[in-house]
Amino acid sequence: MMTNFFQERQGTLHVEDVALPDIAAQFGTPCYVYSRAALTAAADEFRAALNGVVDLTCYAVKANGNLAILNLFARLGLGFDIVSGGELARVLAAGGDPAKTVFSGVGKTVAEMEAALTAGILCFNVESAAELSVLAATAARLGKVAPVSFRVNPDVDAKTHPHISTGLKDNKFGVPFDETRALYRQAAATPSLRVVGIDMHIGSQITELSPYREAAEKLLSLVQMLEADGIALEHMDIGGGLGVCYRDEQPIALTDFAQMLREVFAGRSERLLVEPGRRLVASAGVLLTRILYLKSGASKNFAIVDAAMTELMRPALYEAWHPVNAVTRRAVMTNGGAAADSEKCWDIVGPVCESGDFLAQARPLVLREGDLLAIGVAGAYGMAMSSNYNARPRACEVMVDGNEITMIRAREEVKKLWEAERILSK
Ligand SMILES: *Cc1c(COP(=O)(O)O)cnc(C)c1O
Repeated sequence: MMTNFFQERQGTLHVEDVALPDIAAQFGTPCYVYSRAALTAAADEFRAALNGVVDLTCYAVKANGNLAILNLFARLGLGFDIVSGGELARVLAAGGDPAKTVFSGVGKTVAEMEAALTAGILCFNVESAAELSVLAATAARLGKVAPVSFRVNPDVDAKTHPHISTGLKDNKFGVPFDETRALYRQAAATPSLRVVGIDMHIGSQITELSPYREAAEKLLSLVQMLEADGIALEHMDIGGGLGVCYRDEQPIALTDFAQMLREVFAGRSERLLVEPGRRLVASAGVLLTRILYLKSGASKNFAIVDAAMTELMRPALYEAWHPVNAVTRRAVMTNGGAAADSEKCWDIVGPVCESGDFLAQARPLVLREGDLLAIGVAGAYGMAMSSNYNARPRACEVMVDGNEITMIRAREEVKKLWEAERILSK
């Protein structure tokens, strides 16, 4: 988690030039803290590495949909990959360009299709024959022509966690490879549809290049078959899934990714798109939390903190590992005394009434009650997956830019939790 943007200075963790205890004092905990420079650097890295190969990087909104982050990426020229009408509305509210927005997902509703057709998105990534007919009818009813790309399921093993693997033929995602050609013919013959592209997305947190290469080659072979059928495409979309380092993973170098794309798609004139989510935001955020109580059991030591699975669900959901750092480093006492601080092995757990409610397990740390902890690499699928379980208001989010702090989402108020609820009249 120690990058240029998250550093220890005089024993205290900083985000850019701001000390994390100052954020806790001003905004309370739990709190998500993002570095604007880290977000910008991540977008710049994509631009630099993929320059001349990939024409459009569509940020996958579901990784972190805060308007400030979407707006920053829109200003940096990124497009967006959305999976719902809600995400479309977020992109538009943040000033994103609908003409750079692709719409993925297996269950688009008619209302969502209508909103996307009205906004004028770049394309629908269609995932089934059934969806195609509903899209065709919806576009015809509105007197519009829907731009269509099929999400192909290339049946490759992305070698990642089963819950975040999406490109195997047993997954619910995409059109089976063998059925794609017939669907393209059908779409090409439908007046309310315009075939524009092809896409894939084989999984998430992928750290090996070979599954991408294998899937890209399969995609290309399909594009060549389509050409033989007289169907020309404007773009090919490689999807997202590029992994990051949480613990000791070796992420794919974007320059290697670009080189692979150059090799596979040499001589092709279609525009290339990618849809990264995690890789753009994960390392740019930490979850700041305070220790409420320390509790030592027979076999385990628990640090009970004010963040929980409601703020960061990944450990409970996928046994994901996030780095945990004490915000202010305590000296380890070696010469004894009952009050001496010593390193112990801690499970970091939240207040939620579930045994699965942990943020980290068996971490050697020197802790005291009241101390602050920073859960690292929490910018992706953290706030986005947060919930109100146990009537917990959602955390606030702040953005650091140099020595400036901007609150980009206020802590939720408890009374807002039941604002939409009604008591029976009799
Ligand atoms: C989730 C998703 C992405 C982004 O995945 P990351 O692993 O965050 O890069 C891209 N495309 C589609 C269709 C997705 O569902």
